Amino acid sequence: MTDKRTILVVEDEIAISNFICRALTVNEYQPITASTAREAGVLFCSEHPDLILLDLGLPDRDGIDLLVELKDLSPNTPIIVVSARDQEGEKVRALDLGADDYITKPFGVSELLARIRATLRHTDRLLLAEDSAKDQYRVGDLLVDIRRHQVFIGDNEIHFTQNEFKIIELLCLHAGRVLTYDAIINHVWGPYGGSSNQILRVHMANIRRKLNENPSQPKYILTVLGIGYRMLEDN
Ligand code: CA
Repeated sequence: MTDKRTILVVEDEIAISNFICRALTVNEYQPITASTAREAGVLFCSEHPDLILLDLGLPDRDGIDLLVELKDLSPNTPIIVVSARDQEGEKVRALDLGADDYITKPFGVSELLARIRATLRHTDRLLLAEDSAKDQYRVGDLLVDIRRHQVFIGDNEIHFTQNEFKIIELLCLHAGRVLTYDAIINHVWGPYGGSSNQILRVHMANIRRKLNENPSQPKYILTVLGIGYRMLEDN
């Protein structure tokens, strides 16, 4: 028996798969590898990995199809999608279909490990939250009290409209993870919120102004170009 976290690496390029596995092993994770979607399905069912790194470009099947199937089987198993630079649209689709995060090739070891750590922490927190919901988030000097609907920077309370607060709340609940424009719009305005990101951009600009947040040097909310927003992890 080992208490190492098991990570299923689904990647058909041997060099990349080896690179990832070396990084995981050195950092006390237990990697298992699959080079096809079929193999991934078998290992997923037999090994119950703690996390899956899923390359979207697989030889035998569309990676997105596999993602949907795995999330159906086990919604709580986090999946980080690994995509090529020219798969921007695929990435957003994957996030909207349940991927927990993504990483773009080529990536370095530190970025990979940071994404894995954040995703595992988020999953652990969700599992804990089933018992006791966390109701306060701190990011630097920002404090968000979810239960009381209050936001402070230091000792100063900042006032937000209901929809602005809904956006902040959602980002806090998923701190460390990227949320797509569609995911946020759906949460705040419902499925009929429309597909325009304009309303969200306007709200975000107001939120940033109230937080005194400079988008080019964010302290709390990162803009993920073409995809959405990511709240820095709470501390
Ligand atoms: Ca590939």
